[in-house]
Amino acid sequence: MSSEPVAHPDVGGEIVLRGVGASPGIAIGKVLVLKKDGIVVEEKTVDDPAAELERLQKAIDRSTYELDKIYHTAREKIGEDKARIFEAQLLILSDPVFFDGVKHKITRTKKNAEYVVSTEFSKQVEQLRRSDNEVFKQRAMEIEDSRNRILRNLAEAKLRSRFEGTPIVVTTELTPADAVLLSRNAVLGYVSDFGGARSHASILSRSLGIPAVVGLKEATKHVKDGDELILDGYRGVIVINPSEGTLRRFTDRKKWCEQLDTELMSEAAEPALTTDGRRVSIEANIELLEELPLLKPHGADGIGLFRTEPLIIDSDSIPDEMEQAEIFRQAVEAASPNAVVFRTFDIGGDKLFVEDHAEPNPFLGWRGIRMMLDRPELLKDQFRAILRASAFGKCKIMYPMVATDEEVIRANELLAEAKKSLDAEGVKYDGKLEVGVMIEIPSAALMSKEISKHVAFLSIGTNDLTQYLLAVDRTNELVANMFEEFHPAVLRTIKFTIDSGHDAGIKVAMCGEMAGNPLATVMLLGMGLDEFSAVSSMLPVLKKIIRSTNYKSARKLARQLLKMDSADEIKKALADHLKAHFERIYFTTISDTDS
Ligand code: PEP
Ligand code: MG
Repeated sequence: MSSEPVAHPDVGGEIVLRGVGASPGIAIGKVLVLKKDGIVVEEKTVDDPAAELERLQKAIDRSTYELDKIYHTAREKIGEDKARIFEAQLLILSDPVFFDGVKHKITRTKKNAEYVVSTEFSKQVEQLRRSDNEVFKQRAMEIEDSRNRILRNLAEAKLRSRFEGTPIVVTTELTPADAVLLSRNAVLGYVSDFGGARSHASILSRSLGIPAVVGLKEATKHVKDGDELILDGYRGVIVINPSEGTLRRFTDRKKWCEQLDTELMSEAAEPALTTDGRRVSIEANIELLEELPLLKPHGADGIGLFRTEPLIIDSDSIPDEMEQAEIFRQAVEAASPNAVVFRTFDIGGDKLFVEDHAEPNPFLGWRGIRMMLDRPELLKDQFRAILRASAFGKCKIMYPMVATDEEVIRANELLAEAKKSLDAEGVKYDGKLEVGVMIEIPSAALMSKEISKHVAFLSIGTNDLTQYLLAVDRTNELVANMFEEFHPAVLRTIKFTIDSGHDAGIKVAMCGEMAGNPLATVMLLGMGLDEFSAVSSMLPVLKKIIRSTNYKSARKLARQLLKMDSADEIKKALADHLKAHFERIYFTTISDTDS
């Protein structure tokens, strides 16, 4: 994804920037730049540390008061569940161990409160920022937000939260607190330089129904207050100072999208059944508990991937068995009567681990099931937590980063031990709980026939499968243009995996990003995929496409695509198909602004 501005000389000074669509919808309005000047912290020696401590306490109290207000606004507007995001931040502000350390340091070193607060918070933020994982980055953002709030209150500066008119707010980084606080105004949309679709601020924007585009890198450089702006939250695009023609086109498209959205959401509960009677399952990928209320309205047939590693970061340590069991129970109850696929901790790689081992090639290192097999007690605790949750509804377990069938056999042995230990304690669980494996390493794909003998399902992780097949680091922007899910090698590997699973009589799912890409839906259906798992917001679109497709024709199309030898050719054929059969979906989710 590039945020290189595209100037259109024929249409005046219009600038198009591309980022990530974080909350659907189109907004057209005037820019209001929310300035977040970098707070400059000077190191000073103070004469009276006691007075400094008093000043700090006042700033903490004021910050707590502000955040408490935001928490209550969130509770009123979007409900108790989602407002919980702010409880985590309130906990940061009331952490006695942390602040005792800060106060002790002020007294001992006689340094100013700003300096000590800033350095102590930064230590925590630094480690989290190093990760490319969205959840860790977001946790870093929450801690930074608390730090900035205290620093602002130490400077006794006012918080800007009220403004006139109906603007689109443009800022460097939108925090969850910004998303809620600013929504008390008639704001039309949010635009930010940083952030991803799964950040808390993006989730809150979706819940508040405010369109948002994030991760634009340099949006704030190109806009000033009062500029006309178009925000397309479906495709992650903004247009600054649009021409007359662009404005007209987007005004029409806005109407069109709103109609389509209402239509798709009203049909979301319908099953994903093709016109000739093949039923597939459309499930949700979940990272945060705040996403659970989205399941039902978006018609999810369960949770196809519950990523558990975010729990570690949310609680700053590995939650114990009972804490995990309680969280899993909430997911199971939200998805009921459908199943939840819990993936065991996928830590390592770009996903930080508390032990923080520095590895030269973390993606090729101690990650996922490898790490968990070396920490059998950790894995057994997690198994026991999932088994406990299975007493409340249907659960499945899935292993990430599997390279060989031996790993599956060993993990299954540990699962059997976990069951035995619960039996001994008389704890109830679902004895028929299914186990599956993620196919995301080429060796596992090639061995999928053998692996299928030991499990009840496979789930293809295209994010890692693409990375490892093409030797393209999924987090390295230098090679981002080479990360190509539609590469014939990736497609042939997917087809081989589906066939291997089917030959063994088990179902094959996909939970990588490709499963949520409408361009790929008919092809994956035609390859025989049984289950699609994607972000909730995409599920109604996937269902619509599948419900309007003939399975036999999809199979024929897939066969043709598998014979093609370039990604461009494949994508062109799929785009032509989507445009011909689902014009409105094509124009809202795939096509470029200038098409
Ligand atoms: C994948 O690799 O496709 C996947 C779904 O797992 P993650 O993105 O969490 O690595
Ligand atoms: Mg993966």
